[in-house]
Amino acid sequence: MSTIDQPLGAFTQANSGASAAGSSPNDYWWGLSQLVMSKLGTNWEHTRERYNATRRGSYFSAEFLMGRALLNNLVNLGLVNEARDALAAYGLDLTEVLEQEPDAALGNGGLGRLAACFLDSTAAMDLPVTGYGILYRYGLFKQSFRDGFQHEEPDPWMENGNPFVIRRASEQQLVHFTDMTVRAIPYDMPITGYGTHNVNTLRLWKAEPLEEFDYDAFNSQRFTDAIIERERVGDICRVLYPNDTTYDGKVLRVRQQYFFVSASLQHLVATHLAEHGDLATFANFNAIQLNDTHPVLAIPELMRILMDEHGFGWDEAWEIVTHTFAYTNHTVLAEALETWEQSIFQQLFPRIWDIVAEIDRRFRIDLAGRGFDQGKIDYMAPVHDGRVHMAWIACYAAFSINGVAAIHTEILKRDTLHDWHDVWPEKFNNKTNGVTPRRWLNNCNRRLAGLLTDVLGSDAWVKNLDLLAGIEDHATPDVLRRLTEIKRANKEDFATWIKARDGVDVPVDAIYDVQIKRLHEYKRQLLNAFYILDLYFRLKDNPSLDVVPRLFIFGAKAAPGYKRAKAIIKLINEVGRLVNNDPDTRSKIQVLFVENYNVSPAEHIIPAADISEQISTAGKEASGTSNMKFMMNGALTLGTMDGANVEIVDAVGRENAYVFGALEEELPELKRNYHPRDVVAQTPGLQRVVDALTNGTLDDAGTGDFHDLVDSLLNGSSWEEPDVYYVLGDFASYREARDRMAEDYRDVEEWARKAWINICRSGRFSSDRTIRDYANEIWHLAPMPVD
Ligand SMILES: *Cc1c(COP(=O)(O)O)cnc(C)c1O
Repeated sequence: MSTIDQPLGAFTQANSGASAAGSSPNDYWWGLSQLVMSKLGTNWEHTRERYNATRRGSYFSAEFLMGRALLNNLVNLGLVNEARDALAAYGLDLTEVLEQEPDAALGNGGLGRLAACFLDSTAAMDLPVTGYGILYRYGLFKQSFRDGFQHEEPDPWMENGNPFVIRRASEQQLVHFTDMTVRAIPYDMPITGYGTHNVNTLRLWKAEPLEEFDYDAFNSQRFTDAIIERERVGDICRVLYPNDTTYDGKVLRVRQQYFFVSASLQHLVATHLAEHGDLATFANFNAIQLNDTHPVLAIPELMRILMDEHGFGWDEAWEIVTHTFAYTNHTVLAEALETWEQSIFQQLFPRIWDIVAEIDRRFRIDLAGRGFDQGKIDYMAPVHDGRVHMAWIACYAAFSINGVAAIHTEILKRDTLHDWHDVWPEKFNNKTNGVTPRRWLNNCNRRLAGLLTDVLGSDAWVKNLDLLAGIEDHATPDVLRRLTEIKRANKEDFATWIKARDGVDVPVDAIYDVQIKRLHEYKRQLLNAFYILDLYFRLKDNPSLDVVPRLFIFGAKAAPGYKRAKAIIKLINEVGRLVNNDPDTRSKIQVLFVENYNVSPAEHIIPAADISEQISTAGKEASGTSNMKFMMNGALTLGTMDGANVEIVDAVGRENAYVFGALEEELPELKRNYHPRDVVAQTPGLQRVVDALTNGTLDDAGTGDFHDLVDSLLNGSSWEEPDVYYVLGDFASYREARDRMAEDYRDVEEWARKAWINICRSGRFSSDRTIRDYANEIWHLAPMPVD
């Protein structure tokens, strides 16, 4: 018997309006979720009160890729076993109920998932930090494959409400644009922490019309006016990253950004005034981290609030602003940094435009005083050629600028932000990303978590992943055998899950060789596909070739307007069709492209993985975080010396990973004398792989997509050199490393030993370490436990 079956039954039946037996698994998901919420309310309130009175951090981010909430909250409240028993009393299985929850996919990929892992760590560590973002009505699109092509559908993830999202209408703010004033209503999600009573908050703003509904317009036959006005307000929070190829699309994006930073700052300012009475001390009590450039409008907005609403002069306000904001950069590509037409600012909020123009004027005077020439001043200025450069505003006003992996920060200092580094070297610092070991190990891989707890003698590793270093030398043959059995059992779980989800049969006695991440040319899923094609041809040449069976797993969404990325998705699906249907190869290699990759599929895939494909062109991946999730789950990295791979290889040693490919510092020289056609001709087997795209072996359904892919590799175009991402150049080295890996897999115990070392040395990739460094070195925040 469990102590929660009664309340669980009551909550569930209140939702379903039916008997316990007449309620569906989804009703039980609601019921259990509401029960969880009822248990954390008091601690949540206490935490909010504590944090209001202290120095606090705010994490401003356009994305929070939260995934599911129920299991994480059950674990944190210590309710998993009780919930399992209570559901069993109603004839239900906890796993089935957990699968009912829609993913909160309010983000694209790594940047949004980082924000989610960070919130988990702040709660676990009792740090007074709140996340601020947007309550998108539709999360990242749902992906399905039709004839191998990506198809997109909207993801209405909370159309019927969501038990983990609480509307707090009494804390609403007004946000003004020239053409409209909207209500910003906060919707809060609780962020429970493991082993603590603290409950942190993710506050997501939703735009609502100022007038509830214009009945006059409605009654006087102006129905459409009334409805159109409501829809224009609704647009602000409708989707993550509206298509910005049109001018109107750009206006909407800027409107979204201003909307959420303005509402968040107004709330922080009001809270500060209520607690401390005087805004002069605002920066003493507030550190605000800007996750990428999307929230950079917070800089002129805080200037506006201080000057226009509270009577500060420019210099006093600037002093506060420049001690409040810190900026995280996520890309080395200068051309990928956001800029907006200044006319958008002039149109939406002339006062913000005035402030940006004044920041620009003062910046130019500052740099001229430091002896910079006009060309350089123009390049670095916040406003130039009619465009506002968000990253340049951030670099000027923020007291801290950080990259997200050691190599990334070095490239920023050397190239992308070199000029800023010359002027303000003291602002620059590195904070290598991390992932939460709660979601990405303890919750998703219960078997491995159990083994680690057994060997360590306690579960203290869940809050201090560095403790695993202490059990590295406990790798007895028995421990290694158990580790091997766990991986095998996780593969069986995965096979069951994917069969139920997509109706696909996959082998369990195979190397699980996995690449899951957004589809982008720099991430080089194409290189992965080329290897599979090459191996397929080798097996066709020699059907008795003795290879270890292998399952190639992909998961990736392409941005809807990114044509070449979509062509690569179609290509991988075609390679799968070829390989999976050929009786000569089917028992040896199979390709599985998991549809609609998201946080919860990742939680099923990663525990079963043997190999983590991290094969970006060196210098292009800022950090990567899936590489860390895989490492914690005992998958070995097969990757280039890029992003956090460099630090992973440094931690485990080259002998416990598979490193290949050109180095970042070698690439400029290699590219200078690069002739892709010669590389194809001189690399055995590569010609037939490239030819397979256009000679009828693989079918792009008459779109010409595959021809275009080959063309981009061999010929390039007037605006793009051939093979920008060095796919062909790195092919031979990749094939050598990957073949060697598959041979090594035969030695079961040695493989398990490598996996064990990866797990035990993953401590520095816990987001607890990252957040501790942000808290100590940037935010200057102390833990604030509530009892
Ligand atoms: C971790 C994660 C990412 C980031 O993956 P990278 O390989 O680091 O790009 C993207 N999407 C989801 C759903 C994730 O969980």
